[in-house]
Amino acid sequence: MINVKVGFISLGCSKNLVVTEEMIGLFKKHGYKIVNDPEEAEILLINTCGFIESAKNEGIQTILEMADYKENNCKYLIVTGCLVERYEEELTKEIPEVDLFVSVSDYDRLWEKIDCLINNRKEYDSLSFMDRVLTTGDTMAYLKIAEGCSNYCTYCAIPYIQGKYISREYDDILEEAKMLADKGIKELVVIAQDTTKYGVDLYGKDRLPELLNDLCKIDGFKWIRFLYSYPETITDELIEVVKNNEKICKYFDLPIQHIADDVLKKMNRKSDGKSIRNLINKLRKEIPDVILRTTLIVGFPGETEENYKELCEFVEEYKFDRLGAFAYSIEDGTPAARFPNQLDKKTKESRRKKIMAIQQKVSSDLLKNRIGNTYECLIENINEDGDYLIGRTYMDVPSEDGVVYIPNDGVTLVNEFINVKIVDSKEYDLIGERID
Ligand code: SF4
Repeated sequence: MINVKVGFISLGCSKNLVVTEEMIGLFKKHGYKIVNDPEEAEILLINTCGFIESAKNEGIQTILEMADYKENNCKYLIVTGCLVERYEEELTKEIPEVDLFVSVSDYDRLWEKIDCLINNRKEYDSLSFMDRVLTTGDTMAYLKIAEGCSNYCTYCAIPYIQGKYISREYDDILEEAKMLADKGIKELVVIAQDTTKYGVDLYGKDRLPELLNDLCKIDGFKWIRFLYSYPETITDELIEVVKNNEKICKYFDLPIQHIADDVLKKMNRKSDGKSIRNLINKLRKEIPDVILRTTLIVGFPGETEENYKELCEFVEEYKFDRLGAFAYSIEDGTPAARFPNQLDKKTKESRRKKIMAIQQKVSSDLLKNRIGNTYECLIENINEDGDYLIGRTYMDVPSEDGVVYIPNDGVTLVNEFINVKIVDSKEYDLIGERID
């Protein structure tokens, strides 16, 4: 054991969290002591996000906050991730307190650079899923199946940060999944920027359905879900696999971003309003208890009152179970940043607020219909007062969706699966009672 304490901060998406877990594993493998309190840490590593304006600001804010610890215990401040990939030069100039910046495209030399900084030597090692130190509890874990994205939506910086879509080797993914099952993981959340493109680049065909089938064969998993599926590439085969496998949560996360044809076209989205509506109707016909989640961007350059009205009416009519709306954010280097007819901040924000108000009513009405139903529930936590258990059903994605509150009977344990009858509902959450 090297008597040096290291602390980590992971910002951004679940894909970035998996990278941070691999970084924790790398330090642990080399004998460093992992600590949660930045006050104690002699090395602080911040894995940043650079997706949109708010994420960038959060990144810089966090770096400056952690830099304060260099007045006490902290000897080295290391910053990695998408913000570095985009702005390494500016960050190096503006934040001299940082001892080392490592960008995403340089991760194969991550350990060499860190070792050179700390120990003035060059030991070669790289990130590996085998070293991952899970940070999402004992029951749930993410499984990342690809890097990057090649869809080039005009508002998105990810293809320029993370590079083009690269599927992971099929056998590596299965090996990592087995490792997670052996660690007692019960809920597997399959992620990528676009999970429905898995295999096309590497094997010349979409292998997500096959992969999900094989993941279902691994003993130990109770719930398997996949997120970020691109509407256009949700195939009949995929729908069949979800339908026919009990372990796969009847849940589709399909970010559509908008519904108006001309806006979708300007976003370089491959879907149109008609195909999206048809897909939703098909999913609900094929899988009656399916849960649908989506994300929308409002205030995209050139979005007319008419476009926006169509979007509001669509949200009211098609009633997504889960919906997040974001105000369009101008991202350097993306085509949409140069589009004419940029909307002002106030208009964008008021459109976002109105859509979320519509969705709050939709969600509240949908959840009312669940009163009286029974669901299997994974208990993840107990509330601060200790009087309620906090759980999730197949309808709830971790850290994104609502939860179920169940009176704490003093016997139910965290990480236990129990059956719950729903007795009440709120805008986004449910209230239930244990029935077994
Ligand atoms: S699908 Fe579009 S929005 Fe999503 S990561 Fe790829 S380019 Fe970005």
